[in-house]
Amino acid sequence: MRKLFKDKVVIITGASSGIGEAIARTFALNGSKVVLAARTEPRLSEITNDIKSSGGEAFYVKTDVSIESDCKNLIIKTIEKYSGIDILVNNAGLSMRASFIDVDTKVLHRLMDVNFWGTVYCTKYALPYILERKGTLIGVSSVAGFHGLPGRTGYSASKFAMHGLLETIRIENLKKGLHVMIIAPGFTSTEIRKHALTADGQEQGESPLQEQDLMSPQYVADWVLKGIRKKKRNKLLTWDGKLTALFQRIVPDLVDWAYYYEMSKEPKSPI
Ligand code: NDP
Repeated sequence: MRKLFKDKVVIITGASSGIGEAIARTFALNGSKVVLAARTEPRLSEITNDIKSSGGEAFYVKTDVSIESDCKNLIIKTIEKYSGIDILVNNAGLSMRASFIDVDTKVLHRLMDVNFWGTVYCTKYALPYILERKGTLIGVSSVAGFHGLPGRTGYSASKFAMHGLLETIRIENLKKGLHVMIIAPGFTSTEIRKHALTADGQEQGESPLQEQDLMSPQYVADWVLKGIRKKKRNKLLTWDGKLTALFQRIVPDLVDWAYYYEMSKEPKSPI
């Protein structure tokens, strides 16, 4: 693995926490030059210093992915420092928890701004450089990007939109050696549910799940690197996800009911 990733220039958005942080640390351990992007500068600085003090190569660019000029700046700074890009991991993300009937449309806009438009902006400016190196473009999605997840309309819509974007970019560049991978972790123990927006746009502040029982960010990070090595197209990390992708083509109504019952069992479920 180290041979494959040594000296590769990898940009990771949402690298200040959770899955993105684990991805950044894992690429660095494998000899890559990592560029960390997110809004929380103290966390980015801490993680970058940690990587460097363990002998890794990294720097960070404070970036709000919902702002196009920030994403352009992220790519410019990367090129100035490392003269190219091999891999872009579009990981920055935000979730929500409210039924569509209750939710303020500003929540849906915010979800699209971060999860979808953030991916558009970073990819738009990075793609010419990734193509020069026949590199990899990644979207960190969710089972919510494969089947509608009740109480998460904006989240599902943003991930479906991300899939459409990345799939089309894959096809447009079929002859240019670009690898595009969509990876869908299961429920992973991170800050995502704490920051998830409720109907009026406030942060939920607590997780309805037993976080200690969930997938680890390190497991997801390891699969990002394995997925690149194996040139995966879509990588669903849970059996639930794999079965969803299969059964939605055969018995989609059954999958709807399964999701309805599963999500309605959550404490304080909005459905
Ligand atoms: P975290 O909340 O722990 O991390 C989210 C990351 O996104 C943070 O680094 C945050 O940084 C960053 N981020 C949020 N908004 C912005 C923004 N506007 N600009 C730049 N960065 C931003 O959650 P996860 O690690 O779980 O989430 C990572 C990805 O994994 C997401 O795309 C999520 O949809 C996906 N995922 C997560 C699952 C889970 O159960 N945890 C399951 C399936 C998919 P900062 O606040 O510093 O900007």
